[in-house]
Amino acid sequence: MQIKGSTEIYGIIGNPVAHSLSPIMHNRAFESLGLDKVYVAFPATNAEKALAGFRALGVRGLSVTIPYKETVLGYIDSIDPVAEKIGAVNTLVFKEDNKIHGLNTDWIGANRALAERLELQGKRILLLGAGGSAKAIGFGLLEAGARVILASRTESKVRALAETLQCEWLHLADIETVQADALVNATPVGMSFVENASLVPLESLHNFPVVMDIVYAPLETRLLRESKSAGCEIINGLSMLLYQGVAQFEAWTGQDAPVEEMRAALMQEITK
Ligand code: NAP
Repeated sequence: MQIKGSTEIYGIIGNPVAHSLSPIMHNRAFESLGLDKVYVAFPATNAEKALAGFRALGVRGLSVTIPYKETVLGYIDSIDPVAEKIGAVNTLVFKEDNKIHGLNTDWIGANRALAERLELQGKRILLLGAGGSAKAIGFGLLEAGARVILASRTESKVRALAETLQCEWLHLADIETVQADALVNATPVGMSFVENASLVPLESLHNFPVVMDIVYAPLETRLLRESKSAGCEIINGLSMLLYQGVAQFEAWTGQDAPVEEMRAALMQEITK
């Protein structure tokens, strides 16, 4: 890629951001389509000042990650209705008039990943976790016409999120009582540092024909390994990561994203 005077700048703001896979995915997308665009990681220390600077410098689009997904809401000009319900954005589009529009593609990524295996309308989905990802995924499932059952370990948190989503909830310890069309793990359990852990008892897995884990390091978590052995269809965390990026690319460029190039870039990096 050659950076020229005309090259448009995109990026990610968060702190930390050095570990982010988004630069690899988006730069591969830009390169593969020959677009005069580059994507950079910005370890921002102040969201308000960073956005004022990006606006003044003519940056075209940003991903937003922890800890700014909620903070930036105070400094943007408009917000997508679903992102407004979620109360967090992960994508900013800088428009021609220099106004900033915020949206949330995490739920779009999760829905697209699930939709490769099941039609969501009218389905019952057991969602594990009550944090930021569970909230975005929960609202997204409701958007798609699915019914959500929320399960998490801290009763006050699961109860509060269930109230926000207007959905059923239960304690994590009771998930063996549930049958659903799919189960989604939206907790960090299964990540490298708790690699050999799973929140779902082996004997309950037959209750869920489709199992998705949003953890992507490792790609095959214990939950997915055991679900595969139990005969469930499995979806790994790379799919949500990919499709939230695909939706970002489409929001920034108005073009179809080179999905397979982006998938390959992520795969190469994750399996290094
Ligand atoms: P978060 O806001 O910190 O929420 C984490 C949730 O998991 C909380 O409800 C927490 O319960 C629960 N939890 C944590 N450790 C647990 C344990 N040992 N046992 C049972 N429950 C536990 O995190 P998040 O932002 O939602 O992210 C969750 C995971 O999703 C992370 O691993 C992140 O990397 C991954 N993620 C993946 C993608 C993707 O595109 N694939 C996108 C976003 C996030 P308490 O409330 O009781 O603490």
